[in-house]
Amino acid sequence: MSDGTWGDGTRSVRAGEEAPVPGAPLRPSPVFAAPYHLGDRPPRADGADAYARTEHPTLRVFEAAVGELDGGRCLSFATGMAAISAAVLAVVRAGDRVVLPSDGYYATRLLARDELERYGMTVEYVPTPEIGAVAARGDLEGARLVLLETPSNPLLDVCDIAAVARATRAAGAVLAVDNTTATPLGQRPLALGADLTVGSDTKALTGHSDLLLGHVSTTDEALYACLKSFRDHTGGTPGPFEAWLGHRSMSTLDLRLARQAATAAAVADLLAAHPAASGVRWPWRPGDPSYDLATRQMLRPNGIVSAELPDAAAVARLLAAGRLWTAATSFGGVHSTVDRRAQWGGDAVPEGFVRLSCGIEDTADLVADLTAALDAALG
Ligand SMILES: *Cc1c(COP(=O)(O)O)cnc(C)c1O
Repeated sequence: MSDGTWGDGTRSVRAGEEAPVPGAPLRPSPVFAAPYHLGDRPPRADGADAYARTEHPTLRVFEAAVGELDGGRCLSFATGMAAISAAVLAVVRAGDRVVLPSDGYYATRLLARDELERYGMTVEYVPTPEIGAVAARGDLEGARLVLLETPSNPLLDVCDIAAVARATRAAGAVLAVDNTTATPLGQRPLALGADLTVGSDTKALTGHSDLLLGHVSTTDEALYACLKSFRDHTGGTPGPFEAWLGHRSMSTLDLRLARQAATAAAVADLLAAHPAASGVRWPWRPGDPSYDLATRQMLRPNGIVSAELPDAAAVARLLAAGRLWTAATSFGGVHSTVDRRAQWGGDAVPEGFVRLSCGIEDTADLVADLTAALDAALG
């Protein structure tokens, strides 16, 4: 258990750690098992493991670590979407009103359109910059679940979690926050009043572009129990290898975020000054529409920047000329990547809109490479 004064680097490495046992490994090895020996005892007697879908030792260690960073109790899921599905479906029932961001991760909107509506829920979509005003007007009254995504992916708009949390509490609704872009080090939605914080740990939390994982954390024991039953019944539990790699990877979160954010600051300045780009967004850049709220509400910046190039052909020229900026979706990994979001068809963005994810290569190399690629994008 960590000491409340520890910094992000210490917590990334030591969160969730048990008291040391002589002869035990510093970091527990994965336990590769689906069933466990039962012997002649009743299943789960004295906390013994029985079958890994409900829980397993490697997952317990990883969940303890992530939960400690979130300031709650964590349940891991096989992907971010499995975690978001659980956060929604474990809470709502037919006839309920659910409020989602209209500008958030597109698969969350597909979940709503193709699954939630089919089960009889009414889904309302509110843009992230407007949810604060909707909450202040009392328009969340009658909602069962409100999901925020802040900063939103890919437009990087920010909303006031604490203000919306007061409104959802008054309305008797559950507030969930998709904290993927911020990470548990960058923002603590539970401390700001959210009931649930959810994340795609495929992104920066694990950060090596080789894992699919997600999680939900909460301080509410009743919600935890609902989510745990939901995961037991629907089976979106990560296996030991993913849990072990996830835990191993998150040890460097503080270092990776620091480099990624330093590069993002330089990249945002470069884009803002370059004639090939417009509409640069990075919530921590003075003058950004998200700046005031982001610097007040968030604990630290991250490496995601968005901008607009004139068209798809300009993005193609940029990608052809850049050697370090790789065309790939997802974000938060050690490699620097560029994703032209309109190619996926899910976001309401212009053809030349790009989301850049700054990796952990040297900032100077990334800036030099992007400068050359932007010059090439001008055509
Ligand atoms: C990627 C992402 C998800 C979905 O996560 P997966 O691990 O791909 O299922 C959810 N929310 C946000 C904000 C994301 O960026």
